[in-house]
Amino acid sequence: MSQDKYNATVVGKIILTPDLMVLRLRTDEPRNEFKAGQYTTIGLLAKESRSQNSSIPIDTLEDDFLIKRPYSIASANTATRDFEFYISQVKSGQLTPRLFNLNQGDRMWIDDKILGIFSLHDTPPQTNIVMIATGTGLAPYISFLRSHLSEHPKIKLAIFHGAAYPWDLGYMSELSFIENLFPNFHYFPTLLKADPTWTGLTGYIENHLESNLLKSVGIEINPDKTHFFLCGNPKMVESVSNFLFKHNYSKHCDNKPGALHIEEY
Ligand SMILES: Cc1cc2nc3c(=O)[nH]c(=O)nc-3n(C[C@H](O)[C@H](O)[C@H](O)COP(=O)(O)OP(=O)(O)OC[C@H]3O[C@@H](n4cnc5c(N)ncnc54)[C@H](O)[C@@H]3O)c2cc1C
Repeated sequence: MSQDKYNATVVGKIILTPDLMVLRLRTDEPRNEFKAGQYTTIGLLAKESRSQNSSIPIDTLEDDFLIKRPYSIASANTATRDFEFYISQVKSGQLTPRLFNLNQGDRMWIDDKILGIFSLHDTPPQTNIVMIATGTGLAPYISFLRSHLSEHPKIKLAIFHGAAYPWDLGYMSELSFIENLFPNFHYFPTLLKADPTWTGLTGYIENHLESNLLKSVGIEINPDKTHFFLCGNPKMVESVSNFLFKHNYSKHCDNKPGALHIEEY
């Protein structure tokens, strides 16, 4: 494959930490309508340079090999040419070090397919929604909120975002702003490596589910009343799923509806 197959341009890149960024692309042609929470695949040729702070991977690739990986879309579902992604750099990885080296105006590849069943479409209208993420697993929820928050004034919505340090809490200002604007939305960032200046929640998300935090904002852990969404670290997904299974939750699949929705990275 050659560079002339690239079909999108980098229109924004916000570096939050040396290994965490928001990347915005504009496609040459609009994509089909999609559901908030879905993902698409983006790619770069192996000949593109890697970021300066990455390490050299063991496998070397042919220059014209297109390295492709799936990423959740963080932008609203109404934007079919402008796509936002929330990406963490895997220093030894193939694609992310090349993505971190991109600059505004650079060209790249984006698939025309948008896929996935991680969406609010199978959530009954009267049920509350709890969205749990670690790291960049937050991306689909940003799309949920940007696309649908104003359509749900009567239910309660909450986001738990687990991270190590305060600077790892991407989208904190947007989520805090939404929390101030919408009384039915609650934002619970929780940090594992906070210093004493952090006055918010600390520790694992599971501990906060076991406490009365959700009850205090009127959300019951009951599959008939509240749907849970999990996205991010496999250990978090496993441990929160096990907690929810004990509360009679079952995993949502295409052919078997459930109140526990999981996106595995
Ligand atoms: C549906 C879906 C949606 C996704 N959405 C996002 C998203 O929104 N943002 C995002 O940053 N990523 C997302 N991912 C992960 C992404 O697709 C890549 O796997 C990731 O960015 C690493 O790509 P890479 O080419 O740099 O590393 P690779 O070359 O694929 O991996 C190199 C090595 O690092 C390990 N590795 C892979 N990922 C990680 C990681 N996160 N931490 C530590 N080690 C790792 C691999 O096991 C491998 O050994 C998503 C994955 C899926 C399946």
